[in-house]
Amino acid sequence: MSEHTTIRLSNARRSYNGRVAVSDASLTLKAGRITALLGPSGSGKSTILRMIAGLEPLDGGSLHAGETLLADTRSSVPPEHRDIGLVFQDYALFPHLSVADNVAFGLKGSKKDRRAQAIEWLAHVKLADRADSWPHMLSGGEQQRVALVRALARKPRAILLDEPFSGLDRHLKSEVRRSLIDTLRASGTTVLIVTHDAEEALMMADDLVLMDKGVILQAGSPQDCYKHPSSISAARLLGEAEVLKARIQNGSATTAFGSIPCNLADGTGWLMARPETIHTSPAREGAKVTAIAFGGTFCELTLEKDGQSLRLRTPATTLKVGDTASIRFDEATTCVYADVNG
Ligand code: ADP
Ligand code: MG
Repeated sequence: MSEHTTIRLSNARRSYNGRVAVSDASLTLKAGRITALLGPSGSGKSTILRMIAGLEPLDGGSLHAGETLLADTRSSVPPEHRDIGLVFQDYALFPHLSVADNVAFGLKGSKKDRRAQAIEWLAHVKLADRADSWPHMLSGGEQQRVALVRALARKPRAILLDEPFSGLDRHLKSEVRRSLIDTLRASGTTVLIVTHDAEEALMMADDLVLMDKGVILQAGSPQDCYKHPSSISAARLLGEAEVLKARIQNGSATTAFGSIPCNLADGTGWLMARPETIHTSPAREGAKVTAIAFGGTFCELTLEKDGQSLRLRTPATTLKVGDTASIRFDEATTCVYADVNG
């Protein structure tokens, strides 16, 4: 078995026909942990995954597994010698092989021994009884689990998954996601999951990396990235963000709706608050409620003041359209950015 190693991509660059897809990206996949790389479509996520797997050359920078150099601009260990497993978006099972043979493919040992290993792996994902089915007889979620154990069975030093849940129905997604994460954790493998789904990334990651337009914006724990995004772009990647123009003066940032303490230099800037952290109380004067929408587990209120609008979410409200309310921003989770950052 290979040791599960830390994988380090340093200052990696990749362009296609003169267009930069990844510029100066550094990221670390820590041994035995799940890293999620989150970014919108076209931001360069798959390019990074393919560089780590060895399917894409580096135009700059380097890639190491532990102390071992896997690639730089002059040399590259071929993919089959990197000992890194890949699970693609479309699962890519061999259609002409049974489920058990898909998993047994590439394993060492006698035919009988390889089948026994395959069935043991399938049992981990509750599919031992489908060992002799053909891939097309399985649901999307089941195929996904087979693709995962096929990669894990070879005990790679790391496993990379590219948008592994995007082909699944919403109701199936959370169930498949949970069982896949359990299997990955139990394996102790170093894992990179690439996704454009913020909730998915937040829920699965030990370590989160945010990416946009070929650039890594931030790396940290899911909580840190969500509560203290490094920029408004990073904040927007992770979920709903209300952004208001602010005047920063004498240690506080003031918007049309209210102010919070802030330690930036005097000037103009932007306040960013998550809609679920903005609180209202009925008041004779203040912001006017212009719309209330029912979202099931929450109500969404739209408020207006001085020609600006603000949306917030609350489990329940006694306010009605036309009422006025005062607004309070949560000091612990509301962020202020100086103008250059916007
Ligand atoms: P993501 O996985 O985040 O959606 P990609 O890494 O696939 O993003 O792509 C990043 C950028 O590089 C996109 O603009 C994409 O069109 C471009 N790109 C990716 N692969 C190729 C390729 N083989 N040839 C030309 N352009 C490519
Ligand atoms: Mg992609």
